Parts: sequence; structure tokens; C-alpha cells
Amino acid sequence: SDAGSQKERVVTEEEWLQKWEMGNIGFHKEQGHPLLKKYLDVLLNGRSGLRIFFPLCGKAVEMKWLADMGHNVVGVEVSEQAVKEFFSEHSLPYCEEPVPEISGAKMFQSTSGNISLYCCSIYDLSSLIVGKFDGVWDRGALVAVNPCDRQRYANLMINLVEKNSSYLLVTVSYDPNKHKGPPFYVPESEIKSLFG
Ligand code: SAH
Repeated sequence: SDAGSQKERVVTEEEWLQKWEMGNIGFHKEQGHPLLKKYLDVLLNGRSGLRIFFPLCGKAVEMKWLADMGHNVVGVEVSEQAVKEFFSEHSLPYCEEPVPEISGAKMFQSTSGNISLYCCSIYDLSSLIVGKFDGVWDRGALVAVNPCDRQRYANLMINLVEKNSSYLLVTVSYDPNKHKGPPFYVPESEIKSLFG
């Protein structure tokens, strides 16, 4: 099967905000993702105190896991509701400040300093603003990106990672002619051409 029928499909930021408002967030996993547990060693590769990036983070509980393991977590999420729910559901005190480089953006940081969530579009970020990362957990991120934005997304992610980084990517395999997405169907061949 090919992803032809999804190529033109666009989910706007406004629609994502509405999903959060309506509680239409079936993608959120209270228990965390089993594949992160399974491949944690690949992500960490024996290293400690990593900077780990969560693109399109929602309120993923895995951010808390990794922070509790001593890593520094940075996420980006367009919904402020999602970001606030993350901190309140884990009873984490936080502070909030503007991001001088990005108009309208805010950064929410746990008081302990090890979880920083940018509330803005991922396309507003660059390594000049957030630095570079040793690891990436990409679940519900590449597959949530509009098909027309995939190359831009991949280029940004390549810009955001250190040379010796590990990138865990979760995709979903299904017949794209039967579902409109998201999550979108991203064939392995496309992942190879996006990331090289
Ligand atoms: N990775 C999370 C959430 C996946 S759903 C998880 O595993 O649970 C995709 C998320 O991306 C939604 O919360 C949506 O609000 C957010 N999002 C969509 N487009 C975005 C963009 N351009 N920049 C930042 N966040 C975005």
C-alpha cells in the first residue's frame, strides 16, 4: 500500500488545541510506552545525565520517567493545556517564562530544573534556542506531523541532535487508504530518505 491518499491531509494547530480541549486525546498513554522500556538501553547506550528531546510531547509520562533517572528532558508542545496537565498530574511545581527568541512562546520548567517544556510550534525551535540533544524519543511525533511538513521536520531534528545521539522512533503500520490519520502512515523507505 502507498500513502498517496494521505499526502494532502493537514491537521492544523487549532485542531490539535481543540482535541486537547475536548479531551479527545486517545494517543495519550497513562502507563507509558512499552517500547521505551524495551529499547531504553539503545537510547541511553550506557550514558548517564543525557539531554533528551521529546518533539510534540503532549503530556507523555515518559518525560517523568527519564527525568527521574537523572536525565534532562526538553519537550515542545503547542497546547498549553497539555503542558500544564503534565506538571499538575505529576504534582511537579514549575515556573513559566517567555522565550525571548520566539514571539508568543512560553517555557515551562520544573522547579527542580530537569524538565523544560516549550509551548510553541516545533518549527519555531532551533539548536540556537534549545541546544543539541543526546537522545530523542519520537512517539506520536513524526507520525503526527502533516505529510507535507515531514522533510522540514526531519531537517530540524537532524539539526537538533549531537553527532553521537540515539533516536528512537515509533511509527504505526496500517493501510493508509483505510484511515485518514493522524497518526499518519510513514513507510520505512520514507524514513530512510528523510533521515538518511
Ligand atoms: N508524543 C505525545 C503526543 C502525541 S500527539 C505522546 O506520545 O503522547 C501529537 C502532539 O503534538 C499533540 O499533543 C499536539 O498538540 C502536538 N502538536 C501538533 N503539532 C505541533 C507542532 N507543530 N508543534 C508542537 N506541538 C504540536
